This record gives sequence, C-alpha cells and structure tokens, in this order.
Amino acid sequence: ESPVLSARGLEVDFRVRGGRRARAVDGVNLDLAPGEILALAGESGCGKTTLARTLLGLVRPSAGTVEYAGAPLPTNSAGLKAYRRSVQLVLQDPTGALNPRHTVYEAVAEGLRIHGITDNERERVARALSHCGLRPAERFFLAYPHELSGGQRQRVVIAGALVLEPKVIIADEPVASLDASVRGEILALLLRLREEFGLAALVVTHDLGLAWSIADRLAVMYLGRIVESGPTEQVLTAPQHPYTRALVSVLPDSPVGAPLVLTGEPPDVTQIPVGCRFHPRCHALASGAAEAAGVAMHCRRAPLPVLGAEPDRHSVACHLHAASSSASGAA
Ligand code: SF4
Repeated sequence: ESPVLSARGLEVDFRVRGGRRARAVDGVNLDLAPGEILALAGESGCGKTTLARTLLGLVRPSAGTVEYAGAPLPTNSAGLKAYRRSVQLVLQDPTGALNPRHTVYEAVAEGLRIHGITDNERERVARALSHCGLRPAERFFLAYPHELSGGQRQRVVIAGALVLEPKVIIADEPVASLDASVRGEILALLLRLREEFGLAALVVTHDLGLAWSIADRLAVMYLGRIVESGPTEQVLTAPQHPYTRALVSVLPDSPVGAPLVLTGEPPDVTQIPVGCRFHPRCHALASGAAEAAGVAMHCRRAPLPVLGAEPDRHSVACHLHAASSSASGAA
C-alpha cells in the first residue's frame, strides 16, 4: 500500500549561538502507511520533535522532501493550511494545548472555525467528543479545562484533532504527563481511532514501553539519525544497535540482560562526533566487542550510511552489526 506520509533525505539545519549551524535532522527516510502506528523514539535532543514538526510543515527542511498521499507538501500558506487539516498535531495538555479560558466546546470547535467548516458544527463537536469517550458529549460542552481530569483533558485535545477528520495524527509525547492507569486508556483510545477511522499515527516518545503497547513499527533516533527501525516486536525483543540495546536494557523483563548504562554526554547537535555519532557512549566499543570484530577504527572514523525507508525490514546503522551480519551470512 502506498504510504500516506513519507520523507526522503530529510535534513533540518538550525543556526545556533555564535552563528554556527547545527543539524537537528540528518538524512531521515521514513514511510507511514494508512492506518499504521509508527513510534519515533529517542532521548530529548535527538531530533524527534524537530522531525515531527517538519513532517507537519511547521519547519522547512534544509534538504529532502516530505510527501502526503504521493504529492510534495505545499509551500504556500493556503496549501499548508489544507494539508494540516489532514495531518493533525496532538500535543500533551500540560504544554498548553488547551486554553484555560476556552470551554471544551470552543476548544474542539476551534479547528473547524480555522478551516472555515461551518455546517453542523454542534454535531461535529459532539461526535468528536463522544468518539473520544466523553459521553454524553453535551455534558462537557461548557466545562473548562480545570474542571476536568488529566485524562479527560487529553481526550479533549484528541477530539480537537479528530473533529477535522484527519488521515494522520502526529502525537508528541501524548501521555507523558498522565498517571499510569490513564495512560493505558488514552493509548487504547488511539488504537480504537485507528480501527474505526483508519487513522495513521506517528507517536513521538522517549518511552519504549509506550511504543511496545501501541506501535506497529518503531524507529529509534540518535542525534538526528534513525539508527534502528523495524516492526516494534522485532526491535524490542531483539534490539541490535547498541543504543537501542541500552534503552531496552532498562525496561522491565528486558531481553538484553543487565542494564547497560549510557555513559558520556547526552546528544548535542552542535557537537556531532565523527565516525559513528554514538561512539563516545557506545558500550560495544568500550567493552572491546567492536575491537574484537575489527570495526573499532570504523566506529571512530567512518560515517554510517543513512537507513532507507524499508517498512518491513529490521534495519540497523552500526558497523559492528554490519560486520556480524556479514560474518553470519558468510558462515
Ligand atoms: Fe557502537 Fe561502533 Fe555500532 Fe557505533 S558503529 S553503535 S560505535 S559498535
């Protein structure tokens, strides 16, 4: 099936203090199929939020393309506005997604008004709220955000996206601030919306547990690059990249064994190391495993190729992984 949203060779540069440039997204290829849920995971500063904003047309890439339904993203503001009806952003409420002075009705109707949709407003708002589990919807119309629970507020935020009948939602840490019990409910809601409306979702998260519960596929980002991607179950039960292995190793019942502690500085796009950009923190390099496989020099010097968008493949950008897969392929 053709992807509903795709990116090829995406690069996003920023100017940072001192007039230098930093590359927050560096050669990203990805495809999102209709009805698919893709989790984009990594630590803060890895570029995942910048990538999400670029896919939404909120940030202009320095290079590469984004396509929606096979056509490049419009560059004029009217075209972008129409695009953003089909591809909706869902933020977590504590980041100010809801205006405290607006009622639930106003919050959900706002998108309709922005997009000039004037027919059946009341019915559309009621339908979106009840699809998001706020029933009877009319009971919530006049409520203000402070009168609702955290989970209800997040449902209002999602209803505000759903009311525009999008094809894709891009959810940035949609449950990060919620209690564990409510998180499960919101994730179940996203899954139900996918079933009912065929909605595709890109879920940006630092939480691999969330990816496990919701995503068909997982892409792990480190310093602007996707370093490992594939079907979620494959990536999380048999992580190959040392960075993914470290992230997985601290999950309950991890298949990796003892927790692998990430040492060294966290990602900083203004200082991207040469060679493999993860090498200063890589336990496979520090432990001598890369040396034993004869790739330690490559780790420190040779850049890695960018991963292609191959949705069904488990892909890994790591010299050690490449060496061990070719060794096992040759055996
Ligand atoms: Fe570690 Fe080398 Fe793989 Fe980078 S390429 S993740 S340094 S083993």
